[in-house]
Amino acid sequence: MARSKLIAAALACAAPLILSASPTAPVKACTDDSEWTDPTRAFHIFGNTWFVGTCGLSAILIKSPQGHVLIDGPMEENVLAIEANIQATGARLRDVKAIVFSHAHFDHTGGIARLKRDTGARVYGRGADAATLEAGHTLPGDPQIKVSHGFAPVRPVVRITPGKPLRIGATFITPIATSGHTPGSTSWTWRSCEGRRCMQFVYADSLTAVSDDDYRFTDERAHPGYLAAFRASIARVGALRCDLLLTPHPSASRMWQRFGSTASAAAVDPQACMALAERASVGLDARTAREGGEP
Ligand SMILES: [Zn+2]
Repeated sequence: MARSKLIAAALACAAPLILSASPTAPVKACTDDSEWTDPTRAFHIFGNTWFVGTCGLSAILIKSPQGHVLIDGPMEENVLAIEANIQATGARLRDVKAIVFSHAHFDHTGGIARLKRDTGARVYGRGADAATLEAGHTLPGDPQIKVSHGFAPVRPVVRITPGKPLRIGATFITPIATSGHTPGSTSWTWRSCEGRRCMQFVYADSLTAVSDDDYRFTDERAHPGYLAAFRASIARVGALRCDLLLTPHPSASRMWQRFGSTASAAAVDPQACMALAERASVGLDARTAREGGEP
């Protein structure tokens, strides 16, 4: 059976996740082409994990009695909406003890400086993207350096080690190195339970080969090993245990079709990370072909 048919079969078999009926269901129907600043209400995904972002950009809250984790702080103009959403889940801002992020572009980290100030949370990051966050602008080595917007710098960023779980309160969240979209791209995975039913979440960072006009992913002289690392990142995401896939851009994993008031597809999909990796691989192949092929 072709891989795509296998995935379709797995999708058809995936047990639908029943989201709790809650007064915090989204106020508007977010879609894949929603704007980055279109507000929506917080909603419960599963266990201790909530969506607190906007229609077009994800922010994820993982709650625990000893302190919460926020993943991503997308865009400064979204901060008030994110803070309102955090509070709508019943959490206090000052109980957010850690902010982590996917990659240091303004659409995912532009609001972190203010969120850090308003919550008092520590900010954790790795590699080049931790340095980018501290600088408030992209640094040499980022494929989008000539087109990326600056943002309010965040200091300090506590350095983390890929593969080593970060413990915040009762939550263990593990960073996965997925360099490619940026040099320090990071995905995150954690386990969440409702009674005896547990799910492995994956917040898979962007795996798109997007750049300014001058950057070439195949330029081995300029950045030796970058393309190989990108391919390894895609393979790493494809191999993750993955019951519930979330992404910084909801459209990248069809989140609005799987969650929220207008959901039409099964939320739980153990093949979702593999399918995301396959799409990313096709995209990277197309990009390197446009650049004239592999070096
Ligand atoms: Zn980006």
